[in-house]
Amino acid sequence: MQNYSYHTHTLFSDGRNSAEEMLEQAVKCGLKEIGFSEHLVVHKNFHQSPSWPKLKEYRGSHIYRTDFAEVAAAFVAYKEEISKLAKKYPLQVFVGAEVDFFTYDGWLEEFMIFRRQTNLDYYITGNHFLFSESCDYPIDADELIKFVPQKERQEDYLRRHFLTIARAAETKLFDFVAHIDYMRRVTGCNDNSFMAEKEYLLQILAKNNIPAEVSTKGIRKNGNCYPAPVLLNRMQELNIPVLISDDAHHVSELTQDFSVAESLLQKMDYKNRWKL
Ligand SMILES: [Zn+2]
Ligand SMILES: [Zn+2]
Repeated sequence: MQNYSYHTHTLFSDGRNSAEEMLEQAVKCGLKEIGFSEHLVVHKNFHQSPSWPKLKEYRGSHIYRTDFAEVAAAFVAYKEEISKLAKKYPLQVFVGAEVDFFTYDGWLEEFMIFRRQTNLDYYITGNHFLFSESCDYPIDADELIKFVPQKERQEDYLRRHFLTIARAAETKLFDFVAHIDYMRRVTGCNDNSFMAEKEYLLQILAKNNIPAEVSTKGIRKNGNCYPAPVLLNRMQELNIPVLISDDAHHVSELTQDFSVAESLLQKMDYKNRWKL
């Protein structure tokens, strides 16, 4: 079974355990490698978002920022703290970030500066927010229906979402893509919707040889891994590399359902497996 987990969160972002607690549990789970992929969600207009009143209550201190500069220093200190801590544990520890990719002018340039300043071990692209063409402000996926009641506009936001992941992948700045069909949590976005956009995204991943995760968080949320079988089958046809992730936000979620994902991949004879 896969003995590494690169998609996890601690108290630094919105995880519920300290890095120390996560490392102790990782050893108990038999992991040989773990990566902390803390959320990096920077949008200059976060405060204008209708989701802001909910987000600002969030206790995670290093997520939902309007400026890369203020969060870069925190990541540098965190990386240093983790590398000291890691010496006490018999496994390899990486520090990365799960990045919400935005498309407004200047975002990418600022992200590049952040990368140079922090020099993290790896990056995941994982979008949890939706936005319109102008990318004026991000809307929490769980609040799309509430704040964008018109169905055609909702579809436009969702269509754009899959194309945004493709755009992120095309930059080649990300080591892998998280939960490709995370948006199935939004009413109207099911396993078989937006297939043209999903196909385009998978073609981009295949062309650039960018791995995608098989996330057991999907099982916890609604029964199936992210991505759903229809997408995973297509990924196999396109020979896209995969890795299993747990997206653990709590010690109890580390390697949770790895055996389910593992046997799914084995049953499919999915051979192209990826590691850092
Ligand atoms: Zn995520
Ligand atoms: Zn995550």
